[in-house]
Amino acid sequence: MQGDDLVATAEARHVRYTYRLRVPPGARAALLAEWDRCRWLWNECVSRSQKAYRDGQKCGPARLDKMLTQARAMTPWLAAGSSVPQQQLIRDFGASRAKALKDIKERLSAERRAGMPRYKRKREADPTLNYTRRGFRLKDGRLRLAGGIAVSVVWSRDLPAEPSSVRVYRDSVGHWHASFVVPAAPEPLAATGAVIGIDWGVREIATTTSDAHDLPHSEFGEKTRERLTRYDRMMGRREPKKGQAASKGYRRAKQWRAKTHQKIARQRRDRARKWAKKVVRDHDVIAVEDFKPRFLSRTTMARKAADAAIGATKQALLEMGRKHARDVRLVHPAHTTMDCGKCGARAKHALPLSERTYTCTACGLVSPRDKNSARVMLVRAGLNPAGDDGVGPPGAPLREAA
Ligand SMILES: [Zn+2]
Repeated sequence: MQGDDLVATAEARHVRYTYRLRVPPGARAALLAEWDRCRWLWNECVSRSQKAYRDGQKCGPARLDKMLTQARAMTPWLAAGSSVPQQQLIRDFGASRAKALKDIKERLSAERRAGMPRYKRKREADPTLNYTRRGFRLKDGRLRLAGGIAVSVVWSRDLPAEPSSVRVYRDSVGHWHASFVVPAAPEPLAATGAVIGIDWGVREIATTTSDAHDLPHSEFGEKTRERLTRYDRMMGRREPKKGQAASKGYRRAKQWRAKTHQKIARQRRDRARKWAKKVVRDHDVIAVEDFKPRFLSRTTMARKAADAAIGATKQALLEMGRKHARDVRLVHPAHTTMDCGKCGARAKHALPLSERTYTCTACGLVSPRDKNSARVMLVRAGLNPAGDDGVGPPGAPLREAA
């Protein structure tokens, strides 16, 4: 999920098509060797940027490019790998660092280094390689990557257009995939005259200004939860001592757990897409809280699940909005629980999470807390929530956001 968030904003009119790969042993070894080099390079970037951050120096794209050139000149092992994924990695690093710095700047109260790129450890990080146009070729149904690596693609559906880049990666279960970026033609929908405000939350994934579009959280099934607990216990019992290799039993339990998580993620995505489709079909303009999951996700399992669900749902909404050429406006999340959705007055204190009703001291509005926040989204996006259902008077033009 993490990587795709970035893609969503950078590639406005592109979509990803992902396929399973059949990777022969030789190609697998070559891919893993490429990944070792990229991982080393990434960690080098992290340590340099941390030093630059401490010293108050810049660590922009030009500096990182120069570092790559120097490192390749000095390290034959690095230079033996293809330069395409390495250059792409440097770019990705720069983008994710710039995004984190921007977030930190906007949210002064957040953890100082929250969201900054972190070290990738060999055991934890799954291999990911990105190739731009000049780094890959499709020939006779096979994918040929720079550095003489050839793999077979399982073409489960047709690629609709010539891809501009491809990400080759191994998931936590151990399967390899290729994710192609292709241009997408927008498919505009009929205008509806309706607008909607959306607030993300822990009680409901999405609370909206339209009761018909609220999305409750779905609990894992009882069976799924039992299974996860069982695998966690199995892993706990078989956990390798420091410096020792993991046992077969441990690795197996770990893979079962990864499979279960993958299944949960798939169900979550399907549900998010269905909901997003409905929201996008029924509204011309969508004002949505620009929620950043990683700032909250360090507490309980339920919280983490809620964060993951919100992340997947927000992404599905942005993609669906783009696909159907709707106007989706991201709203800064600060103070949304303190503002009144009717008169715009700001309360003096933040509402405690236990307080489920918002009462405005200025205009007297009494409204369920999350419904009020959803209304605040509309106001902040420059849309006037005229009626209770969020539909403006007929014929009234929608105001543009400031
Ligand atoms: Zn008010």
